[in-house]
Formats: sequence, C-alpha cells, structure tokens
Amino acid sequence: MKNIYLKEKKEKSVRRRHPWIFSGAIQSREHEIEDGDIVSVCSNDGDLLGCGYYNSKTRISVRLLSFGDRVISKDYLRQLIEAGVRKRKKSPLLKNTDSCRLIFSEGDLFPGLIIDTYGGHLVVQCLTLGIERMKDSIVDILAELLRPESIFERSDHEGRRLEGIQPLRGQILGTTPDELIMRENGMSFIVNVREGQKTGFYLDQRDNRDLVKRLAAGRSVLNLFSYTGGFSVAAAMGGANTVVSVDASGEALETARKNSVLNNSTSGTEFIKADVFEYLRREPINGDLIIMDPPSLAKSRASVQKACRGYKELHLQIASKCPENSLLLTSSCTRFIGMELFQMVVFEAFSDAGRNASIIGKYSQPCDHPTNIFCPETEYLKSLLMQIE
Ligand code: SAH
Repeated sequence: MKNIYLKEKKEKSVRRRHPWIFSGAIQSREHEIEDGDIVSVCSNDGDLLGCGYYNSKTRISVRLLSFGDRVISKDYLRQLIEAGVRKRKKSPLLKNTDSCRLIFSEGDLFPGLIIDTYGGHLVVQCLTLGIERMKDSIVDILAELLRPESIFERSDHEGRRLEGIQPLRGQILGTTPDELIMRENGMSFIVNVREGQKTGFYLDQRDNRDLVKRLAAGRSVLNLFSYTGGFSVAAAMGGANTVVSVDASGEALETARKNSVLNNSTSGTEFIKADVFEYLRREPINGDLIIMDPPSLAKSRASVQKACRGYKELHLQIASKCPENSLLLTSSCTRFIGMELFQMVVFEAFSDAGRNASIIGKYSQPCDHPTNIFCPETEYLKSLLMQIE
C-alpha cells in the first residue's frame, strides 16, 4: 500500500482515533498516489497509524477507516457493515420501526458512506470519491449480508463536486417502488426514495416524533417546515385537536396530506404552502404546540452568522406571537452550530421579545445516527423543548 507521512506532532489526533487528516498535517507522500486511492498513514518516524482513502481536492486529504495496523480489505469493509447492522438489529430502541440508518458515515467508522433501510429496501449514499471506488464491494456485501428487496443510490449530494465526482442517482439492485411505506411506532409514512429529501425521510427525528405524539393531546399544533408531515401525523395520532403543516414544497405537502389519510388522521388538518419566514411575519400564531425543524441554514462555517440571523428571526416571531402556555420543539440540523450557540440564539430571540420561557428538554440525534466520540463533528442535530409562559 502507498504511504503518507505526517508532520511531526500532527499525529496526536489520529492516535486519538479522529478519522480526518487535513492537508496541512501531511509531510510527504509517495508520488504515485492518486485521488481515491487507499493509503497507509504513518507518523513522521514511520509508525503505521491507520488506513483510509486519499483525495487531493478536498481540505480533508485522508479519511481513515481503520486505525493501527488493520488494513482495508473487502473483508474489513464487511466487518464494518456487519457491526453497524448488528447494533441496529439488537437495539431495543429500534424495535418499533422497520426503517433506520444502518451506516452513518464517521459515526459508524465508515467515513463517506450512508446506508438507510426502509423496510428492507436500501438506499445508499456515497459522499466521497474514496467510497465511490469501494461501491461495487459495498453493494456485493449488502446483497449477500442483508438480501435486500432493492438497493437505490442517492449519491446526489452537491458536495460530490468538491470531491471531483458528479452527483449520481439510480437503481443499483432490484426495483425500488416509487413510493414505499415505512412503519414507525404505530404510524405509517410514505417514503419517496427517488425524489425525497435526504434518502426520502427524516429518520433522525424519530425520537422527537415520539415526543410530539406524547405531548400533542388536546393541543393546536403548528408544524413549520413540515416536509412530508412526519411530526404532523405524530401530533394527530397523539390526540391533537388541529394540525397545521407549513412548507414551501407543494410536493412535500401533497405527501403530507397522503400520510394523514394513510394514518386515518385527517380531522383538523390543514396544509399551507408558504415560505415559513413570510408566513410567520404575516400570520398570527394560534398553535400552542409549535414544531420547527428548518433545513440546514448553514452549509459551511462561513454561513454560520447568516444562519444565526435566520434562526433568530424565526424564534423572535414565535416568541412574540404564540399563545400563553405554548410548547415549542425547535431543532437545528446545522453541524456548524452547536447546542450552546443554538441556545444562545434562541435566548436572544426570547429576550428581545420580552417573553418568559424555559427549556424543559434537550435532545440530539437517535441511536441509529451515533456520535463518534472521537469525532465530535458527527453530532449535528439538536433540539430544545421549551415551555413558553
Ligand atoms: N421536519 C421535517 C423535515 C424538514 S426538512 C420532518 O421531520 O420530516 C426541511 C423542509 O423545509 C423541506 O420540506 C423544505 O421543502 C422546507 N423548506 C425549506 N426552506 C423553506 C422555507 N423558507 N419555507 C418553508 N419551507 C421551507
């Protein structure tokens, strides 16, 4: 295997099992290394620290899949996938659903790879060139290990262009239906893995959907950025009086409407196609359980300030207008904004509005989106449950 040598004193994070090697940490590399190649990463004195894949085009030059002297072989990839699958299968936290994330990139020690299952139909996302090169092996392993109904590829993440590869989307194995139906905690959801957001559904909000189901009885619910109505169905099934879903996408709302029919929970539901920023400026808020889960407002560190202004504006409107004794479940899926900063922005909004509120719950991503303790960047979802006086 081809070697890369790190600068002196730049090996500490690798020894601590952080999987990223930034270009500035590299002292030298063997000349014939090409983008996408598997490489051995060595300390300045030649100790083998781990193996990963290389790309000269990205700020992270190597993403490691193994540490110490484990070499990357097809057998090793199989072990990683088996470990991910085993954890989900055994987890009591996932026993009430047929759909979950099986491999969560660095969270499952497999940087660049996402695998979701929707009732046995797999969706694969290859985020990097290194993973693209391993795709055939990964598909073989999945076919053999899981005998899936189908495999669909959703490698249409724009970030692939930075890796020097085109976004891709298509059928890899079998036939994936245009609309799948997944089950979760007594609810059913239509998932469109071909066209939907992410791989089709927000699996990462599963625990929060359950929370909403438990909180909704007798409430008027306002679900902002509702997408296909995951939270709306949960609220209706939990006994909400009314559920208003707001989203900018007509297609997402159409699926949300179908989801409420599918769950026999259409009574009191309303679907509004609108920009949420404008909607909140324009309309009164009647809901006393407000759920707000916007898309990632910052795609990079450079846009954090702008994102914070967006979060602040949204929360300021809610803090100014919502009825007394409301509950708010607010989320940020922006990795570059941590819990502390998110809470600070929410605090500023409530402070400016002169509204009393307290945090009565703090949540993060569910167990099938594990945070790799050696790679805290894998934590991205944060949610606050607030009691507003
Ligand atoms: N809460 C959802 C996921 C939200 S994804 C769930 O649990 O399933 C973000 C959603 O925000 C998408 O459906 C997208 O269409 C919508 N969106 C993005 N920008 C918007 C805007 N400015 N106004 C309204 N909706 C917007």
